Amino acid sequence: MSFDRNRLPDPLSYFEHQDLKLTPKGKWRSARCVFHDGSDSMRINTATGAWVCMSCAAKGGDVLAYEMATTGADFISAAKALGAWIEDGKPETRHKATPLPARQAIQVLNFESTLTAVAAGNIAKGLALTDADRARLMVAVGRINRIAEAFA
Ligand SMILES: [Zn+2]
Repeated sequence: MSFDRNRLPDPLSYFEHQDLKLTPKGKWRSARCVFHDGSDSMRINTATGAWVCMSCAAKGGDVLAYEMATTGADFISAAKALGAWIEDGKPETRHKATPLPARQAIQVLNFESTLTAVAAGNIAKGLALTDADRARLMVAVGRINRIAEAFA
């Protein structure tokens, strides 16, 4: 079983299937941001699938990262959903080098989940999150996703 990046869908058709309207014509296009409900702050690179919100700092390098961020799916599930996962009958190989040691990854997860829990606690108490808080939460999601991807 393995991931085949070449099988990822074409970025333009993928994002249009996400019910996004991409304007204008060109390599970089604008669309609404589903992460903070912004009307046209998302910039999408139609060549690479990279995406970044100019308002809330949500971002990712390709359509797979977008799929993971919007659905909460892990790397393999998202790759399968996008047709980029090949079931070749071989056992899953774990040859990929991880960007940081497992202990450090756990520390990052610990910190980011605590930060998320504090934010959730504040919301439960009726406190509104600032834009900076929300942007920081997107950073937390990004870090957690990257670790999940690295150790998947
Ligand atoms: Zn945004």
